[in-house]
Amino acid sequence: MTEEVVSLECPRCGAPVGRNDRMCGHCKSPMYVKSVKEVTTVIRSGKQDKNPQQIMNDYINFYNKKLLQDESHLDSLLALGLFYIETKQGEKAIEKLEKAKDLSPATASIYFYLALAMVFKRRPRVMTKMEVQKVEEQLEAVRCIDSEFGVADLLLGAVKYDFYIMNGLRPPAPGHDELIKSARNKYLDPDDAAKMLELCSFSGNPVLRNMQEMDL
Ligand SMILES: [Zn+2]
Repeated sequence: MTEEVVSLECPRCGAPVGRNDRMCGHCKSPMYVKSVKEVTTVIRSGKQDKNPQQIMNDYINFYNKKLLQDESHLDSLLALGLFYIETKQGEKAIEKLEKAKDLSPATASIYFYLALAMVFKRRPRVMTKMEVQKVEEQLEAVRCIDSEFGVADLLLGAVKYDFYIMNGLRPPAPGHDELIKSARNKYLDPDDAAKMLELCSFSGNPVLRNMQEMDL
């Protein structure tokens, strides 16, 4: 494959950045975000000379350019997945995060964000059993890889309630009550929890109600 020659500019301030730079030498913004929290930080940081939509588009363009240089650049795939979640582009987020997962199968957060991207356009209640099982698989993977990732338990509980209980089916163990309990003994990332509550508006869901009461 011939290498594409692409010049990269900082998505935050427009200064030129080298292909291996992880931080902008001019405005000090990180190039590659790894979590919902970091997405929020880069959107809010720096001079507020652009609106959030513009900033998000600039980051999305930056990662797409970077992927032209190297289509399996893990950090760009994960960051792009996160920005597609932030801009509510579920299908595109799923596509990038699936690739990121293949490249880094032991990173718990990728599975969590992938599950989140799978459920916010169509709630689990209206999914097929195969579709919902795919979401469950991602969250079970998080539970295997990282025993402290509490928000994954909450998302799994919310998904199981919405699909099984709302459709009058018996959920496979652990049930949503058990998952709420186990989540309470783990680390609950407030930014991941807030994003989950923002994106998952499954009406009548006791897990989501519980999260609102937890006041994370
Ligand atoms: Zn910059």
